[in-house]
Amino acid sequence: MSDFTIGLTGGIASGKSEVSRRFEALGIVVADADVAARDVVAPGSPALARIVERFGVDIVQADGTLDRALLRQRVFANDDKRRALEAITHPAIRRRMMDICFAAPGPYVIAAIPLLTEVGGRAAYPWLDRILVVDTPVALQHARLLRRDNINAELADRMIQAQATREQRLALADDVIVNDGHPDALQAQVEALDQRYRELASKR
Ligand code: ADP
Repeated sequence: MSDFTIGLTGGIASGKSEVSRRFEALGIVVADADVAARDVVAPGSPALARIVERFGVDIVQADGTLDRALLRQRVFANDDKRRALEAITHPAIRRRMMDICFAAPGPYVIAAIPLLTEVGGRAAYPWLDRILVVDTPVALQHARLLRRDNINAELADRMIQAQATREQRLALADDVIVNDGHPDALQAQVEALDQRYRELASKR
Protein backbone atom coordinates (compact mmCIF):
# COMPACT_ATOMS: atom_id res chain seq x y z
CA MET A 1 0.00 0.00 0.00
CA SER A 2 1.35 3.37 -1.03
CA ASP A 3 1.08 6.31 1.30
CA PHE A 4 2.92 8.86 -0.82
CA THR A 5 0.94 10.22 -3.75
CA ILE A 6 1.93 12.62 -6.50
CA GLY A 7 -0.82 14.40 -8.44
CA LEU A 8 0.18 14.75 -12.10
CA THR A 9 -1.51 17.39 -14.20
CA GLY A 10 -0.99 19.58 -17.25
CA GLY A 11 -2.94 21.11 -20.11
CA ILE A 12 -4.32 19.11 -22.99
CA ALA A 13 -1.49 17.72 -25.18
CA SER A 14 1.13 19.06 -22.79
CA GLY A 15 2.69 15.59 -22.58
CA LYS A 16 1.07 13.98 -19.51
CA SER A 17 0.74 10.61 -21.23
CA GLU A 18 4.37 10.72 -22.32
CA VAL A 19 5.40 11.49 -18.74
CA SER A 20 3.07 8.83 -17.27
CA ARG A 21 4.52 6.18 -19.56
CA ARG A 22 8.02 7.01 -18.36
CA PHE A 23 7.05 6.73 -14.68
CA GLU A 24 5.30 3.43 -15.42
CA ALA A 25 8.45 2.14 -17.09
CA LEU A 26 10.23 2.80 -13.77
CA GLY A 27 7.68 0.55 -12.04
CA ILE A 28 5.41 3.26 -10.67
CA VAL A 29 1.63 2.80 -10.67
CA VAL A 30 -0.23 5.62 -12.42
CA ALA A 31 -3.92 5.93 -11.56
CA ASP A 32 -5.73 7.76 -14.36
CA ALA A 33 -8.69 10.01 -13.55
CA ASP A 34 -9.98 9.68 -17.14
CA VAL A 35 -10.22 5.92 -16.65
CA ALA A 36 -11.81 6.40 -13.22
CA ALA A 37 -14.36 8.75 -14.81
CA ARG A 38 -15.46 5.97 -17.16
CA ASP A 39 -15.40 3.28 -14.49
CA VAL A 40 -17.63 5.14 -12.03
CA VAL A 41 -20.48 5.24 -14.58
CA ALA A 42 -20.18 1.57 -15.59
CA PRO A 43 -23.43 -0.42 -15.90
CA GLY A 44 -24.84 -1.13 -12.43
CA SER A 45 -22.95 1.73 -10.74
CA PRO A 46 -24.73 4.07 -8.30
CA ALA A 47 -23.51 7.08 -10.32
CA LEU A 48 -25.11 5.74 -13.50
CA ALA A 49 -28.40 5.21 -11.66
CA ARG A 50 -28.34 8.84 -10.52
CA ILE A 51 -27.52 10.08 -14.03
CA VAL A 52 -30.52 8.15 -15.39
CA GLU A 53 -32.72 9.67 -12.66
CA ARG A 54 -31.59 13.17 -13.60
CA PHE A 55 -31.18 12.95 -17.39
CA GLY A 56 -33.68 10.29 -18.44
CA VAL A 57 -33.55 6.60 -19.23
CA ASP A 58 -32.65 7.17 -22.90
CA ILE A 59 -29.18 8.27 -21.76
CA VAL A 60 -28.39 4.54 -21.48
CA GLN A 61 -27.73 2.54 -24.64
CA ALA A 62 -29.18 -0.88 -25.48
CA ASP A 63 -26.09 -2.60 -24.04
CA GLY A 64 -26.55 -0.83 -20.69
CA THR A 65 -23.64 1.59 -21.09
CA LEU A 66 -23.89 5.35 -20.77
CA ASP A 67 -24.35 7.25 -24.03
CA ARG A 68 -21.55 9.70 -23.35
CA ALA A 69 -22.01 11.63 -26.61
CA LEU A 70 -25.72 12.22 -25.89
CA LEU A 71 -24.95 13.23 -22.31
CA ARG A 72 -22.32 15.68 -23.54
CA GLN A 73 -24.91 17.20 -25.88
CA ARG A 74 -27.43 17.53 -23.03
CA VAL A 75 -25.07 19.32 -20.67
CA PHE A 76 -23.34 21.36 -23.36
CA ALA A 77 -23.89 25.09 -22.84
CA ASN A 78 -26.15 24.43 -19.85
CA ASP A 79 -24.36 25.28 -16.62
CA ASP A 80 -27.08 23.91 -14.34
CA LYS A 81 -27.07 20.54 -16.03
CA ARG A 82 -23.29 20.41 -16.16
CA ARG A 83 -23.10 21.18 -12.46
CA ALA A 84 -25.73 18.54 -11.70
CA LEU A 85 -23.72 15.97 -13.64
CA GLU A 86 -20.48 16.95 -11.91
CA ALA A 87 -22.17 16.73 -8.50
CA ILE A 88 -22.88 13.09 -9.31
CA THR A 89 -19.60 12.10 -10.97
CA HIS A 90 -16.86 14.12 -9.25
CA PRO A 91 -17.23 12.70 -5.73
CA ALA A 92 -17.32 9.18 -7.20
CA ILE A 93 -14.18 9.84 -9.26
CA ARG A 94 -12.33 11.31 -6.27
CA ARG A 95 -13.29 8.35 -4.10
CA ARG A 96 -12.18 5.86 -6.75
CA MET A 97 -8.86 7.63 -7.29
CA MET A 98 -8.23 7.60 -3.55
CA ASP A 99 -9.04 3.88 -3.26
CA ILE A 100 -6.75 2.99 -6.20
CA CYS A 101 -3.88 5.15 -4.95
CA PHE A 102 -4.01 3.93 -1.36
CA ALA A 103 -4.11 0.30 -2.51
CA ALA A 104 -1.32 0.67 -5.09
CA PRO A 105 1.96 -1.19 -4.52
CA GLY A 106 5.29 0.58 -4.86
CA PRO A 107 7.28 3.30 -3.11
CA TYR A 108 4.90 6.01 -4.28
CA VAL A 109 1.97 6.34 -6.66
CA ILE A 110 0.95 8.87 -9.29
CA ALA A 111 -2.61 10.17 -9.59
CA ALA A 112 -2.91 11.54 -13.14
CA ILE A 113 -5.67 14.15 -12.99
CA PRO A 114 -5.74 16.20 -16.20
CA LEU A 115 -8.30 18.69 -14.87
CA LEU A 116 -6.92 18.97 -11.35
CA THR A 117 -6.81 22.77 -11.45
CA GLU A 118 -10.29 23.06 -12.94
CA VAL A 119 -11.94 20.73 -10.39
CA GLY A 120 -10.61 22.63 -7.39
CA GLY A 121 -6.93 21.73 -7.03
CA ARG A 122 -5.68 20.79 -3.59
CA ALA A 123 -9.04 21.42 -1.96
CA ALA A 124 -10.57 18.68 -4.12
CA TYR A 125 -7.67 16.28 -3.56
CA PRO A 126 -6.28 17.08 -0.10
CA TRP A 127 -4.62 13.66 0.15
CA LEU A 128 -2.07 14.44 -2.60
CA ASP A 129 1.39 14.85 -1.08
CA ARG A 130 2.79 16.80 -4.02
CA ILE A 131 1.57 18.19 -7.33
CA LEU A 132 3.64 17.75 -10.49
CA VAL A 133 2.74 19.95 -13.46
CA VAL A 134 3.77 19.19 -17.03
CA ASP A 135 4.33 22.63 -18.47
CA THR A 136 4.41 23.45 -22.18
CA PRO A 137 4.23 26.79 -24.01
CA VAL A 138 0.74 27.25 -25.46
CA ALA A 139 2.01 27.43 -29.06
CA LEU A 140 3.63 23.99 -28.71
CA GLN A 141 0.60 22.57 -26.94
CA HIS A 142 -1.52 23.82 -29.84
CA ALA A 143 0.75 22.29 -32.48
CA ARG A 144 0.85 18.92 -30.70
CA LEU A 145 -2.91 18.90 -30.27
CA LEU A 146 -3.42 19.55 -34.00
CA ARG A 147 -1.10 16.71 -34.89
CA ARG A 148 -2.33 14.20 -32.32
CA ASP A 149 -6.08 14.70 -32.72
CA ASN A 150 -6.08 15.76 -36.37
CA ILE A 151 -8.36 18.75 -35.65
CA ASN A 152 -8.38 22.29 -37.00
CA ALA A 153 -6.66 25.26 -35.40
CA GLU A 154 -9.88 26.88 -34.22
CA LEU A 155 -11.09 23.81 -32.34
CA ALA A 156 -7.64 23.37 -30.79
CA ASP A 157 -7.79 27.01 -29.62
CA ARG A 158 -11.18 26.49 -28.05
CA MET A 159 -10.09 23.29 -26.30
CA ILE A 160 -7.07 25.03 -24.82
CA GLN A 161 -9.05 28.12 -23.82
CA ALA A 162 -11.71 25.99 -22.10
CA GLN A 163 -9.04 24.85 -19.64
CA ALA A 164 -7.23 26.61 -16.81
CA THR A 165 -4.34 28.83 -17.87
CA ARG A 166 -0.73 27.79 -17.72
CA GLU A 167 -0.24 30.23 -14.82
CA GLN A 168 -3.18 28.82 -12.85
CA ARG A 169 -1.76 25.31 -13.16
CA LEU A 170 1.77 26.37 -12.26
CA ALA A 171 0.44 28.09 -9.14
CA LEU A 172 -0.41 24.60 -7.80
CA ALA A 173 2.92 23.02 -8.67
CA ASP A 174 5.42 21.63 -6.20
CA ASP A 175 7.38 20.22 -9.12
CA VAL A 176 7.41 21.07 -12.81
CA ILE A 177 8.43 19.05 -15.86
CA VAL A 178 9.13 21.35 -18.78
CA ASN A 179 8.17 19.67 -22.04
CA ASP A 180 9.35 22.14 -24.64
CA GLY A 181 12.05 20.15 -26.38
CA HIS A 182 12.69 16.67 -27.68
CA PRO A 183 10.67 13.93 -25.93
CA ASP A 184 13.98 12.35 -24.85
CA ALA A 185 14.54 15.39 -22.63
CA LEU A 186 11.61 14.15 -20.54
CA GLN A 187 13.48 11.04 -19.50
CA ALA A 188 16.13 12.79 -17.40
CA GLN A 189 13.51 14.96 -15.71
CA VAL A 190 11.36 11.94 -14.88
CA GLU A 191 14.34 9.99 -13.54
CA ALA A 192 15.42 12.87 -11.30
CA LEU A 193 11.92 13.25 -9.90
CA ASP A 194 11.59 9.50 -9.44
CA GLN A 195 14.73 9.53 -7.28
CA ARG A 196 13.43 12.44 -5.27
CA TYR A 197 10.00 10.89 -4.76
CA ARG A 198 11.54 7.59 -3.66
CA GLU A 199 13.62 9.47 -1.10
CA LEU A 200 10.71 11.53 0.16
CA ALA A 201 8.48 8.45 0.37
CA SER A 202 11.11 6.49 2.32
CA LYS A 203 11.30 9.26 4.93
CA ARG A 204 7.63 8.83 5.68
P1 ADP B 1 -1.50 14.77 -22.85
O1 ADP B 1 -1.53 13.36 -22.29
O2 ADP B 1 -1.01 15.80 -21.89
O3 ADP B 1 -2.79 15.19 -23.51
P2 ADP B 1 0.36 13.60 -24.77
O4 ADP B 1 1.37 12.95 -23.89
O5 ADP B 1 -0.66 12.74 -25.46
O6 ADP B 1 -0.38 14.81 -24.00
O7 ADP B 1 1.16 14.47 -25.84
C1 ADP B 1 0.45 15.14 -26.87
C2 ADP B 1 1.03 14.79 -28.23
O8 ADP B 1 2.29 15.43 -28.37
C3 ADP B 1 1.28 13.30 -28.39
O9 ADP B 1 1.05 12.94 -29.74
C4 ADP B 1 2.75 13.15 -28.03
O10 ADP B 1 3.35 12.04 -28.64
C5 ADP B 1 3.33 14.48 -28.52
N1 ADP B 1 4.45 14.97 -27.71
C6 ADP B 1 4.54 15.00 -26.38
N2 ADP B 1 5.71 15.54 -25.99
C7 ADP B 1 6.36 15.87 -27.09
C8 ADP B 1 7.64 16.49 -27.38
N3 ADP B 1 8.47 16.86 -26.41
N4 ADP B 1 7.98 16.68 -28.66
C9 ADP B 1 7.15 16.31 -29.65
N5 ADP B 1 5.97 15.74 -29.49
C10 ADP B 1 5.56 15.52 -28.22
